[in-house]
Amino acid sequence: MAAWVEGRVIERIEWTPTLFSLRVAADLAPYKAGQFTKLALEQGDRRIQRAYSFVNPPSAPYHEFYLVEIPSGELTPSLGSLQAGDTLLVQSQATGFLTLDEVPAGRDLWLLSTGTAIGPFLSMLADGEAFNRFENLVLVHGVRKGEELSYQPLIASFAGQYGERFRYVPFVSREPWPEAMAGRIPAAIAEGRLQARVGLGFSPEQSQVLICGNPEMVKETQQTLLALGLAKNLRRAPGNISAENYW
Ligand code: NAP
Repeated sequence: MAAWVEGRVIERIEWTPTLFSLRVAADLAPYKAGQFTKLALEQGDRRIQRAYSFVNPPSAPYHEFYLVEIPSGELTPSLGSLQAGDTLLVQSQATGFLTLDEVPAGRDLWLLSTGTAIGPFLSMLADGEAFNRFENLVLVHGVRKGEELSYQPLIASFAGQYGERFRYVPFVSREPWPEAMAGRIPAAIAEGRLQARVGLGFSPEQSQVLICGNPEMVKETQQTLLALGLAKNLRRAPGNISAENYW
């Protein structure tokens, strides 16, 4: 049985009326960038729980989670009302295989995400190991509205630290937004628009692609990349594509 420990909210970051992050102090077992744990609240005699990825690098003195409040959901409205000083339950042992030690060598690391699933990629980038292993790092984030492009200061800090080795491409699908690409990630790859914007192509020799987000986006992006000649990365047969559905 996984052990649960008490966590205390030390900071709450408000991004939009439905998007927020919680920084939590809790005594957890060591974890890797890209992994997730579970958060829970007790409601009556029930424990309502759900998996969330760490946004912080594992070396951080706190644990950070990026959440979207789903009004009809069982848990997120309660998590959404937590303020600094409030407590919640955190599973002490993290899990998940969307980690860099599962990713074969390559020249370019593409991190393709939608919505709150950008979280595990921010953890990997802040951890620094991604920059030790790859020459070029491309963070792609698809959202519906421009205001949902959270974590801009952190993302700008990667550009400041690593210069042209780091590229960030926001996609905003439901309104025009300065600097953002329009539409959806898989379509932009199929049409070559993403590659043109970044100045890099996809190839089995040089590309490693991690995908995390909306399950339909994950599926369509994988299909698009397979059609371009990339292969799924499996432990028994190393390839180029590693993916995780975020819900
Ligand atoms: P989303 O619907 O996942 O949209 C985020 C981005 O992904 C949008 O740009 C969207 O484009 C794009 N997208 C959607 N389907 C796609 C596909 N098949 N291929 C490529 N791109 C695709 O929305 P969200 O704003 O992150 O979340 C909205 C809702 O998703 C929430 O209200 C909630 O119901 C659900 N959600 C659930 C959880 C959960 O843990 N249960 C977590 C996050 C979100 P379009 O604008 O063109 O659709």
